[in-house]
Amino acid sequence: MKMRMDKILREIADEAYEVARLRRNGVKTARDRVFAEVLAELEANGDARPGSSAWWRAAQRAGHFIAKNHELQPTNGDSAQPIVRYQICKISRSNRIGFDPELNRRRNMGENSKIEWTDHTFNPWIGCQHVSPGCDHCYAEAQNAFRKWNGGTWGPHAPRKRTSEATWKGPIKWNAEARAFKEEYGHRPRVFCASLADVFDNQVPSEWRRDLFALIRDCRRLDWLLLTKRPQNIPKMLPADWGEGHRNVWLGVTAENQEWFDRRWKDLQNISAVIKFIFYEPAVGPLRLPKHGPFPDWLISGGESGGGARPMKPRWVRDIIADCRLRGVAPFHKQWGSYQNNPLVMERGMSPTDAKALDQYGKGGGMVDGELVREFPTRRDVAHRNAA
Ligand code: SF4
Repeated sequence: MKMRMDKILREIADEAYEVARLRRNGVKTARDRVFAEVLAELEANGDARPGSSAWWRAAQRAGHFIAKNHELQPTNGDSAQPIVRYQICKISRSNRIGFDPELNRRRNMGENSKIEWTDHTFNPWIGCQHVSPGCDHCYAEAQNAFRKWNGGTWGPHAPRKRTSEATWKGPIKWNAEARAFKEEYGHRPRVFCASLADVFDNQVPSEWRRDLFALIRDCRRLDWLLLTKRPQNIPKMLPADWGEGHRNVWLGVTAENQEWFDRRWKDLQNISAVIKFIFYEPAVGPLRLPKHGPFPDWLISGGESGGGARPMKPRWVRDIIADCRLRGVAPFHKQWGSYQNNPLVMERGMSPTDAKALDQYGKGGGMVDGELVREFPTRRDVAHRNAA
């Protein structure tokens, strides 16, 4: 327990030091308010250098101060409780937001999407067909059967339905608000494009895709996340001016297990893009990254949810996170899918109700061994520039 607390305190200290540095340089940040207490502690130590014993002592005091003054008190006499709550609120190192529960909730929920890894969701059209086992319980298909967006039909013979003009205006509005968004949340707004379809579906009229890329080009302040299960179609469907990849477009493929990772990453790795990502959800089997690159920039993992969901094993998640860390890939564990998959239930024998009280992140909870693992990648061109 002490070791875990030390690790948390070290992260608090890192964060507080970073806020102090930004402040000294006159940069205003949303973290200011959240870390005011930590700063008071650090500033009381004058020029304590990061890692020095004075700095470490200040961070420890600051950590205890936060624990005492925020929602980290034991609520049921269980001394483990504040530690766990502490970890739930702890900062993601690559996308630091802070301890403010409301800010964290809004950040995690996104402005216009309930999906944890995006801020907005935009569907230029609706409709698709199954291409691999990851599609077996397609959420979009089930929603379409219920809401009849597409007359309730789905699959190879069902028409794809273009969404309304009003829907297409959504990204223009988000783009206009993007500067304020970045100021508040510390990152460019991310748009997950086509949660109810596939951008690279060959049944979609090519004019629609041309219109979509024109919209993407017009909305330069948004980062567009194009996720597909058809990477073999990408090269022939990208716009003529793609070049080394549009600076605001991330390309991703779904890989529900090793077989589909091997097939789809083989296609994606040869296509230029500023960010390439793997969507390991629904995880229906183990997946390991290869020993040698090229590697993706980002990997999102998650278990399947809903009726008939296939189980996900905690070991698969630990293994892929370990691979990501070794190979410089940013890991983002979104959810376990069901509390039956959550290690608190599967390995520690807790009831799903007790596990839910401790871990309410994503469907089935999202913590991995007491931590939220939710990192975001750095764009290749930016990383390259920073390294130069
Ligand atoms: S590719 Fe996606 S949207 Fe299309 S059928 Fe499969 S799961 Fe559904």
